Amino acid sequence: MKQVINMNTKCRICGEKIEVPDDSMAGELIECPSCGMNFEIVSIAESSVEIKPAENVGEDWGE
Ligand SMILES: [Zn+2]
Repeated sequence: MKQVINMNTKCRICGEKIEVPDDSMAGELIECPSCGMNFEIVSIAESSVEIKPAENVGEDWGE
């Protein structure tokens, strides 16, 4: 049986805890349930998640 482990990280804007499903992948967007800020998952490992603000969606492609 697969055990689902929800990881979490902290919103950099309001400090609220953001739950990250363990099947999330880098590049996915998550939203802070408190302030509504969107974050992009930069990297995700078994026990840690790194996120960055995703306000400039679409500007990071190419160069
Ligand atoms: Zn927030």
